[in-house]
Amino acid sequence: MTTMVTRAGWRARRPTSSYTQLPRARGVKVHYTGGYVSPKIVDDHDICLELMRTFQRQHIDANGWSDFAYNLAGCPHRRLLEGRGFGVMSAANGPGLNDDHYAILALVGSSGFTQPTDDLLHAVRDGIELLRKHGAGTEIKGHRDGYSTSCPGGPLYAWVRKGAPRPREAPAKPKPPKPVKVVWDGDVPRWPGRVLKHVGGAMMRGEDVRVWQDKMARRGWKLDVDGVFGEQSADVARGYRRATGLPAGDTVDKATWAMTWSWTPPPEKSA
Ligand SMILES: [Zn+2]
Ligand SMILES: [Zn+2]
Repeated sequence: MTTMVTRAGWRARRPTSSYTQLPRARGVKVHYTGGYVSPKIVDDHDICLELMRTFQRQHIDANGWSDFAYNLAGCPHRRLLEGRGFGVMSAANGPGLNDDHYAILALVGSSGFTQPTDDLLHAVRDGIELLRKHGAGTEIKGHRDGYSTSCPGGPLYAWVRKGAPRPREAPAKPKPPKPVKVVWDGDVPRWPGRVLKHVGGAMMRGEDVRVWQDKMARRGWKLDVDGVFGEQSADVARGYRRATGLPAGDTVDKATWAMTWSWTPPPEKSA
C-alpha cells in the first residue's frame, strides 16, 4: 500500500479558513498538474514536495482559495500526499461540481513528464480506494467530465475511462540457473551435487556434463563432448551402469559419477 505523506511532510501552510464538510460524494475525479513537469521527478521525490508547495501557494495567494485545492495527490513514487484530506470538499472540479466528487491530483504534466508510470497509477488508484473508505462512491471520472478542460490529459484520461485499473505487475523473471562449477580433487572431480539426466525441453547442460562426457569419450564411449546431456548421453549412462553392475538407469547419479573415475569397463559393442 502506498505511504501517505502528511501535510507536515511536504511542509504545507495552514488553510486560511475552515473546509466545507462533505461526508459523502458520488465518487472521485482525477486531475493532472498540466503545464511542465520535469522528467527528473521520476527519480526525485523532492520535486513532488516542491510541486505541492507551489500549487498551494498558487491556490491560496493567486486564486484566493483557502488551501491547496485537492483532497489528495499521488506521485510517481507510489506515495499519496495529503491535501485537504477526507470528508471535505475540494476546490478542484469547477463551480458547482465539488459536492459530487472528491478530487485527486496526479503529479504528471502536459509537457516534460507526461506519461503516467505504473507507480503513479498505483498511487492514484490507492488514493481512490482510500477516498472510498471515507465516503466516496464508486464513480471515477476526469476533471473534463462536466467541465471544459484538457485535464487530466490524454494518457491519464484514457486510464480513467477504463475504470482506473491497477497496472499489471510485471511477472517475476525466472532466474537463470546457476552455472555448475566442477571442483577437482587432483584428477578426480567432486560430485557436482545434481543427477545428470536427459530431460525434455531445455536440456540439462553445464560443466559437470561436459567433464563426465569427456571422461567417457576418453574411455572409448561414443558421445559428443558438448556439455549437453541429451539422449546420447543417457544411452551411454545406461550402458555404463549395466557394464559396471550399478542399478539400472540412464542417469549419472552420485554412484555413477564416482564409478566413472574409479573403474573402467570395456565399451559396449554397438549393435
Ligand atoms: Zn483538473
Ligand atoms: Zn514523489
